[in-house]
Amino acid sequence: MEQIYTFGNYLHNKYACKVYKVGINISGFTCPNIDGTVAKGGCTFCENDSFSASTGQAQSLKGFHLNLKSKENPYLQKQLEQLELQFNAISKRQAKEYGAKKFLVYFQSFTNTYAPFETLKALYDKALSFPDVIGLSIGTRSDSITEETLDYLACLNKNKEIWIEFGIQSVYDETLEKINRGHNSANVKEWILKSKEKGLNVCGHLIFGLPDENKDMMLETSKQAYEWGIDSVKYHPLYVVKKTALANDFIKGVFTPISEEEYLDILVKSLKMKPKMVSVQRVTAGINDSSLLAPEWCRDKNIQIKNINKTLKQLGLKY
Ligand code: SF4
Repeated sequence: MEQIYTFGNYLHNKYACKVYKVGINISGFTCPNIDGTVAKGGCTFCENDSFSASTGQAQSLKGFHLNLKSKENPYLQKQLEQLELQFNAISKRQAKEYGAKKFLVYFQSFTNTYAPFETLKALYDKALSFPDVIGLSIGTRSDSITEETLDYLACLNKNKEIWIEFGIQSVYDETLEKINRGHNSANVKEWILKSKEKGLNVCGHLIFGLPDENKDMMLETSKQAYEWGIDSVKYHPLYVVKKTALANDFIKGVFTPISEEEYLDILVKSLKMKPKMVSVQRVTAGINDSSLLAPEWCRDKNIQIKNINKTLKQLGLKY
């Protein structure tokens, strides 16, 4: 049975120990697709409230958003404290429960390069100063990163492991328009290539089951993402969360979610065409609470993984 090359394999081979990602949510960050800079309302599938702006101990930060035009950030100290509190709590648990020895700090919610440079620098530097941290992974949009930030990350990458996670979703502009993505595919390609030129590690997020996309389109997205030189990939099925624009389309019968059979078929084909050394960080996604509207198969992650492995086994592969 051939093991699909995972991000865990990549980290273990490189650091010879268990390395875990520590997911961090910093209050005050937002998204240009939500705050009106690019658009309002965000991507049609994004339940903006699910990206809680108040996490950890920093309840006092609830409701504030960074002023992107100002170098001054009166909340920076609180954000740094919040970062430290979250890192300590999560890394401690990962060490105890899973034997994690080293950590990659993952700035995951909202758009983590969408803030004044001085704020970003302070947060990234702080995260890298924690014990046993080997690097950063920064989730962002391709229209929200500057050359200045990219150069700084490239500089950090000389001594640490720096990843940028870009939402690619689809290479079809008509699809990106339908989901109100707020940027086109050329923009994603441009910033992925720039990041690669500067030696940074790139993870691409892909979504299968976007409105009106057929199998060929989804596979074309995988193919192009691999050609752009991504180092790692996360595959997601598009599921419908309540209180979103996509939920309205689903209720009106305008949008039909992808079936599990079709998702498995596309996932397997994408995995088979993937260059061997592109590591896989995620093969599916879902949400097991009352916010999930459809499809029901996206509720239980364990069953999803079981079915993915059952399909992969027939091809001599395992995840
Ligand atoms: S880019 Fe991310 S945070 Fe922003 S609206 Fe889309 S899904 Fe939501």
